[in-house]
Amino acid sequence: MLIVMRHGATADEVQKVVSVIEEMGYQATPMPGAQRTAVGLVGNDGRVDASRLEGLPGVQEVIHVSKPYKQVSREWRPEATVVKLAGGVTVGGTEVVAMAGPCSLETERQVLESARLVKEAGAVILRGGAWKPRSSPYSFQGLGRPGLKLLAKAREETGLLICTEAMDPDGVGWVSEMADIVQIGARNMQNFSLLKVAGRCGKPILLKRGISATIVELLLSAEYLLAEGNHDVILCERGVRSFDTMTRNLFDLTAIPVVHKLSHLPIIADPSHGTGLRDKVIPMARAAIAAGADGIMVEVHPNPEAALSDGAQTLYPDQFTQLMREVRIIAEAIGRRVAEPAVVGA
Ligand code: PEP
Ligand code: MN
Repeated sequence: MLIVMRHGATADEVQKVVSVIEEMGYQATPMPGAQRTAVGLVGNDGRVDASRLEGLPGVQEVIHVSKPYKQVSREWRPEATVVKLAGGVTVGGTEVVAMAGPCSLETERQVLESARLVKEAGAVILRGGAWKPRSSPYSFQGLGRPGLKLLAKAREETGLLICTEAMDPDGVGWVSEMADIVQIGARNMQNFSLLKVAGRCGKPILLKRGISATIVELLLSAEYLLAEGNHDVILCERGVRSFDTMTRNLFDLTAIPVVHKLSHLPIIADPSHGTGLRDKVIPMARAAIAAGADGIMVEVHPNPEAALSDGAQTLYPDQFTQLMREVRIIAEAIGRRVAEPAVVGA
């Protein structure tokens, strides 16, 4: 529920609303805005009796948020969330961001070369997993913590920002110390205890859609992060399970406008995991930008044939360079522009 204050309501009036909400046994979140100040009320499963709040001085109206997800919804916050990263990079505004890099971090040489190549092509964020959620326990599981050191080196050398996955609460701690964005992977989208830890880590989160999660479930998982106080959340469409075996997953492009309508959070697209096939990644990346995605996440490797994971969906560097050229044109055609490489520390 949202309690919208009158224009010019005093701090005391806002405080009174907060106290009454707390007396009623709920949590209150004051949300000062450019247009209006509102106080959010959460902690209610059912319908709250608003009569005590409606009559308080300074209250203009009380809005019942009809969706099961609250703070994530457009009803709660009509204007788009713009996640601000180091170096002036933003996600969710007019800029479109490119996150690129290998599926797995493998060696220092591979990480640094990937970073240089994707930066040259126009990526602003380097992706790559130090911990890999693999279907088989015998597949390469990632370098673990030493992988984070390689990412730190790549960041220092290239100025690229870093997005990398944390698979457990310890991982959230380590990743959030060095990375610019903590990725929660598809398989962990509904790991609610992990989401609670991530919601308190103080870094922006990239939350990937679960393998068979509905859009509402994705938004409810994001709600866990906001409920812990982390409002810097970027969603990611990465394809869902389908009956069709022609592609690795069914890349749900519709999710992009659907999420934009239901939520103020930015959403990017990952056509690499979405399709699983190198030659399908490029057209679907183009389509995602055209559909309004706030960015793309693409797997790129200096030598995809030698990649320790996901080689078949990984672009060659020159393919990524070509894709970025096309993405710039598509972004411009819809009134957006591609974010330029950041200057870390700015
Ligand atoms: C990844 O981006 O490295 C990854 C494992 O993706 P997903 O969680 O979407 O499968
Ligand atoms: Mn991968």
